[in-house]
Amino acid sequence: MIFKLFKELQISQLGLGNMRLPTEGFDGAVKEKEAREIIEYAYENGINYFDTAFGYVGGESERIVGKILNQYPRDTWYLATKMPGHMMKYKDGKLGFSGYMAGSDITSIAQIFEQQLEKCGVDYFDFYLLHNMCETAFDFYTNEELGVVRYLLEQKKAGRIRHLGFSTHARTKTIEQFLDIYPDTFEFVQIQLNYMDWTLQEAGRKNKLLTDRGIPVISMGSLRGGSLAKLTDEAAAMLKEARPNDSIASWAFRFLQSLPNLQIALSGMENLDTLKENIALFSNPSPTTPAEIELLQKAIAPMMNLVPCTSCRYCTDSCPAKLDIPKLISLYNEASYEKAMWLVDFTLGAMNENELPGACVECGACSALCPQSIDIPDIMKKFDNMIKNPPAPQR
Ligand code: SF4
Ligand code: SF4
Repeated sequence: MIFKLFKELQISQLGLGNMRLPTEGFDGAVKEKEAREIIEYAYENGINYFDTAFGYVGGESERIVGKILNQYPRDTWYLATKMPGHMMKYKDGKLGFSGYMAGSDITSIAQIFEQQLEKCGVDYFDFYLLHNMCETAFDFYTNEELGVVRYLLEQKKAGRIRHLGFSTHARTKTIEQFLDIYPDTFEFVQIQLNYMDWTLQEAGRKNKLLTDRGIPVISMGSLRGGSLAKLTDEAAAMLKEARPNDSIASWAFRFLQSLPNLQIALSGMENLDTLKENIALFSNPSPTTPAEIELLQKAIAPMMNLVPCTSCRYCTDSCPAKLDIPKLISLYNEASYEKAMWLVDFTLGAMNENELPGACVECGACSALCPQSIDIPDIMKKFDNMIKNPPAPQR
């Protein structure tokens, strides 16, 4: 395992993301035995950075990750969690909540922080982040009266947070503005970083901004919710020709290894095989060369128009039509990229009318929560049109 120094800590460069613990169905109970197997294997094979958040897996991730890690000495693992400000509003002295937190009876940010310590079974967090400081959460996080940052700095002073940072899907300009408001405050920033988002989500520009300011970067979406482990047949063939024995996913991690300011590459590894492969990749580093990065860019160029959904599922709870939005977007991508409805006909045929994109009522609740700023109702409309007027078959 590659370890990289962060302040006083030697941290594994591969971190375990716990946003998608194995569950019964897509939103059922966590399969704790399987989650335990993964977290224990990760720990025992060198990973010492574990990322979770208040809302992951319906609030269960913090509890399970904390419970499993606590069987090991506290100073041998580093726990990161997040304040869910991207789902909170502050108006007239009161907190309001949306998405998975709608209907919550929480009345203060202190209550959330205390709950997190309790759920994780710890008395301090090694890393604590503002969750998704983005354009829609900017006012919440900078509200002086509420004082989220002030409160967290007090916790840091009291030794209950060791290092403070934020995760973000915001545009580069917004990140710059936020850092200017709070100079010398945030010690690390977590961004969606991979070779496809280098331009799609301005990850290259964000990485440069943070590097120039001396702020280490943690990558999330390292595999773009798994989509960089598959690619299209054409793109995969180009990469296979260059390195026949390598998996497609390995290119994403090798790309991250080529970035000098990368502190940690986070990945949610839902099964042991993936975890083992990734640990092997971070045991024998092999950063992509400039020629390989050029090849990557060439391979994905035709894919750059795909809808950039990462399957985070932030949008699904708010959908009054109960649509499986990421599944529909994935089918839409498949059908529109290949210009071939027949590729998805079988799956669509097995779905009920009320599960299809035509059931969208265009309320827009989903888009307001999407960290990728996807115009979801528009995609649902386009997909519905495509289903009703399928393009002529290409093959
Ligand atoms: S716009 Fe459509 S997909 Fe989005 S939440 Fe509303 S009904 Fe669901
Ligand atoms: S549409 Fe957006 S919020 Fe919904 S799963 Fe995809 S990336 Fe996440």
